[in-house]
Amino acid sequence: SLTIGIVGLPNVGKSTLFNALTRNEVLAANYPFATIEPNTGVVGVPDPRLGVLSDMYHSQRVVPATVTFVDIAGLVRGASEGQGLGNKFLANIRESDAICQVIRAFHDDDVAHVDGRVSPHDDIETINTELILADLQTIEKVLPRLTKEARLIKDKQPVLAAVEEAKQVLDSGRTVFAAGLDPEPLYDLHLLTAKPFLYAFNVDEDQLTDEGAKQELRKLVAPAEAIFLDAKIESELVELPDDEALELLQSMGQEESGLSQLARVGFATLGLQTFLTAGEKESRAWTIRRGATAPEAAGVIHTDFQRGFIKAEIVSYDDLIAAGSMAEAKAQGKVRMEGKDYIMRDGDIVDFRFNV
Ligand code: GDP
Repeated sequence: SLTIGIVGLPNVGKSTLFNALTRNEVLAANYPFATIEPNTGVVGVPDPRLGVLSDMYHSQRVVPATVTFVDIAGLVRGASEGQGLGNKFLANIRESDAICQVIRAFHDDDVAHVDGRVSPHDDIETINTELILADLQTIEKVLPRLTKEARLIKDKQPVLAAVEEAKQVLDSGRTVFAAGLDPEPLYDLHLLTAKPFLYAFNVDEDQLTDEGAKQELRKLVAPAEAIFLDAKIESELVELPDDEALELLQSMGQEESGLSQLARVGFATLGLQTFLTAGEKESRAWTIRRGATAPEAAGVIHTDFQRGFIKAEIVSYDDLIAAGSMAEAKAQGKVRMEGKDYIMRDGDIVDFRFNV
């Protein structure tokens, strides 16, 4: 499955956040036979629709979609030159499908900052510089061969052009992602900065409701998504029963925990979406990439469903809820039969028809 690598400079609260994340794991409940690495956290993507479906269908359980986070240690200045855990750090980050940078915005004189001052702007620069330098090394390694190949093989010319453009972007100090370059022709290079980025700002509690401060931070990272959380509070929230956690959140003017936001935004950053199934056994969100077809979605449930795909009976969540029951939704003509070319939409509730 796709993973999000979590990186951050020392003392930004990355371990605090990651510990909260792993305490929040859904894995044990729903996937008892899965083994997971110690530096991996699998969290559920919050989806209120599942609870509603579960009530409607009297489901025995609810199974949310999940996102897998990997704690990647060793980000220090000079990592691209092998400082700290340099090479291991780069290898781990290369294996991730998206990168979440944890950025310190909280102030606490008891927690030292590596550079002696709290500056989200400078920290983002420091991290991006390491990633950019690593990508430039990658490009310089492949460029001579690629140039030669492009002279002989016409098909390689677009790749060369894309790599040269990426080099320009990186030379100017920007990431491939921020520059909005098409990652497709660059795929074989596994560039770090071509991956989708996401930022988690570890803020002081009073900053959680400071829209002005948050807007300033957002500006630093656009077009990447930003979320705001207080890692210390997150670590307290995971210890509380649900109702008390909600109360604490509301007392801070929050509707959703930082971890929930991280899971939700991380899921979208990976280019994923869900479709839903509902029944007595379970109400469940299944993970597909955005743009997946109905047979591909069927294949996520079982490969046989994809192989023998006939059609998909689909009702949108909103239509089902408006109708009040599946029978009523059918009577209203809201339940559609879709074929093999249908592109799945978020909120589709599906019953697949297939040959075995
Ligand atoms: P890491 O090096 O990035 O993994 O940082 P840690 O999670 O170990 O945190 C470093 C120190 O900062 C610890 O003493 C944490 O308790 C503290 N810390 C983490 N998050 C916060 C926060 O949101 N606010 C404050 N005031 N301290 C924090």
